[in-house]
Amino acid sequence: MTTSSTLPGGRRIKVAVLGATGAVGQTFIRQLQGHPWFTVSAVAASERSAGQKYGAVTRWIEGVMPDDIAAMTVVECVPEQVDAEIVFSALDSGVAGTIEGAFAAAGRMVLSNAKNYRMDADVPLVIPEVNAGHLDLLQVQRQRRGWKGGIVTNANCAATVAAMALAPLQEAFGLKSVFVTTFQAISGAGYPGVPSLDILGNVIPYIGDEEPKIEREMNKMLGRLTNDAITPAPFAVSAHANRVATENGHLTCLSVACDRRVTADEALEVLRSWRGDPSSLGLPSSPDRALVVTDAVDRPQTRRDVRAGNGMTVTVGRVRPDPILDVKLVALGHNTIRGAAGGSILNAEVLVSRGVIGQA
Ligand code: NAP
Repeated sequence: MTTSSTLPGGRRIKVAVLGATGAVGQTFIRQLQGHPWFTVSAVAASERSAGQKYGAVTRWIEGVMPDDIAAMTVVECVPEQVDAEIVFSALDSGVAGTIEGAFAAAGRMVLSNAKNYRMDADVPLVIPEVNAGHLDLLQVQRQRRGWKGGIVTNANCAATVAAMALAPLQEAFGLKSVFVTTFQAISGAGYPGVPSLDILGNVIPYIGDEEPKIEREMNKMLGRLTNDAITPAPFAVSAHANRVATENGHLTCLSVACDRRVTADEALEVLRSWRGDPSSLGLPSSPDRALVVTDAVDRPQTRRDVRAGNGMTVTVGRVRPDPILDVKLVALGHNTIRGAAGGSILNAEVLVSRGVIGQA
């Protein structure tokens, strides 16, 4: 297994970003700057952008656009135009299904942020610290679909934050039921996203298709892989999704019942000691701690905690007894980093470290 800071011989693997001009695509570009294993060899987007310089067609949201990327010509999302072994997809779900399938069939490893393939039985839906073992499904996928490449997905951004906080509790006690209420940042809607007159000074208690995604994806991620199939974790989930006027960071409030009565102190102990799957540790994008527990009575807060672990750490706080269920808690994570681009890159690093890709 490779976990060193550079690959043998200092080699770097060519990676492409599909949907490179959007909110998540730009986060990929930022997260990949100076990456020790990966080098961006292609940026791809719609026909509207293809053929033009990335710097000219991209409305850059945060920080300074890297000069080398700005000078690249955007290509169309077709395998023939993309010279890369690993393909990070930040595509709109309206087009992701066909395009990602074409890249996988053409022998590329696709790391997708779109919802299209997430719930397919032979597609891993992975947060490395939580369920890196589900990556073994790739063998089933290749056999069934005849693909030389493959597709690995990461979850809905709010489901990712909640699942990371719940994984230690599921592992230690088993979960019976979960109520989750989210407070999701505007950047979760992409760019240009929610009109300013809809969101300024406002909370919108509806995000299209978000609640069903949260309710089904957590069960798959926290489920077990046995006999080439995932048995979803059998707990019930009820989600309320709200859009709030924050820039980045999805805050989730969770009330949890476990398979046996669990005290807040017991929950705190397992949350504090949890380190996640060993194969997710020590990689270029691994945070020092995937989960951090704060004792402050009024944290986590979106503005103050969203950058924990360079956006890869989920901060948990307010772990306390729940008068109806067992415990309640708050979890916060960065939606475009941990919940999207950073999570995809960590998935790719696990695949490289396991020798599944990048062996050229
Ligand atoms: P976005 O800002 O709207 O970006 C969409 C990207 O898709 C743009 O690069 C756009 O290129 C490209 N695109 C649109 N139509 C296309 C077509 N016909 N062919 C090729 N490319 C096309 O959206 P986003 O927020 O970055 O989200 C991207 C994906 O990640 C979505 O599936 C979303 O659900 C998922 N996701 C988002 C977040 C988040 O926090 N934002 C978190 C997790 C997952 P042009 O600029 O050329 O139109």
